Amino acid sequence: MSKSSPKKTTLDPFGTTVVEDYERLYEEFGIQPFKPLLMQVPDPYVSMRRGVIFGHRDFAPILHAMKTHEEYAVMSGIKPTGEFHLGTLTTAREVIYFQQQGATAFYGIADVEAYEDNKIPFERSEKYAVGNVADLLALGFDPRRGCIYRQSREERVKDLAIIFGRNVTLATMKAIYGERHMGLYISALIQAGDILLPQLEDFGGPKPTVVPVGVDQDPHLRLTRDLASKFRRKYRFVLPSSTYHKLIKCLDGSPKMSKRNPMSYFTFQETPKSIKKKISNAFTGGRPTAQEQRKLGGIPEICPVYDMYMFHFFKEDKQVAQLYRDCRSGRILCGEDKQRLIEIVLSFVKDHRRKRRQNIDKAREILEVE
Ligand code: SF4
Repeated sequence: MSKSSPKKTTLDPFGTTVVEDYERLYEEFGIQPFKPLLMQVPDPYVSMRRGVIFGHRDFAPILHAMKTHEEYAVMSGIKPTGEFHLGTLTTAREVIYFQQQGATAFYGIADVEAYEDNKIPFERSEKYAVGNVADLLALGFDPRRGCIYRQSREERVKDLAIIFGRNVTLATMKAIYGERHMGLYISALIQAGDILLPQLEDFGGPKPTVVPVGVDQDPHLRLTRDLASKFRRKYRFVLPSSTYHKLIKCLDGSPKMSKRNPMSYFTFQETPKSIKKKISNAFTGGRPTAQEQRKLGGIPEICPVYDMYMFHFFKEDKQVAQLYRDCRSGRILCGEDKQRLIEIVLSFVKDHRRKRRQNIDKAREILEVE
């Protein structure tokens, strides 16, 4: 870290990710800024326009495929450790966006990682996976133009992990992930298998593949791009591309949600009463008194309520800009802002749960769960 900034940056898919300044990721990790590409994206996704998707690696092949309507894939997934929440919603919606733009979509259920990283037995993660897939379908994922699978049941990703393992030293894994137990290294190799699965002959062979993820997942992309390069001659892999979204702030203002602190997030399966209570108690960028807030304005940059509107709950960009101005100028107070958000969130959750119920049987069928 340079002397010019004391701000911390840690990207750890298995631990705590801290990003106090997203700009520093360009310099420190070689992530490219997404903004210069925005004008070239045929129909940019709302998160691209709002800067939630702030970075990428090698997005040019995807851009080319989007413009020319050539074949490409989108690949991402979920670790089945619980019910859907605002963080998993971000990635799911990005996958669906690329699918709607013409990509063949792959959605992996990372149950091996859930076992290795979170000690979740496969019987338990299977239950979560059914719900997670029903959520994905409820959000608009089209299973006829996509592939949803569990890592533990997909032999091809495990085969790739075994093959990749021969070309990765322990020193490399330590350099990327730090000192970890062997199960996490194995699960990282399986993730590399996930990312390159769309390029196997069974799925039409090599093709550009975009992986939309939270920036905490970047170490997996670095490992996989290195492996894709090493195995290029054998498989003719195209190096996978990625987009990175910011991590939505937790309700308590902390950078990453924690199951140890249930007030830091809510899931879509909680009662309206519980969701309402959590949003009502959320940390904000407001001032100690209404009088001060009227005078000084709030600080949307540190506010999880602002993040929720920007990431998910305002349909129009101009609504986000208006809230920013109203907050900064002190025209709006946190209480009324939270109340409006509660109404929007509860309406979304009610509608989403109805659609989710309609998709549970389909999710069971896709995952081959009795
Ligand atoms: S007014 Fe809204 S956006 Fe501004 S600090 Fe309060 S809750 Fe956050």
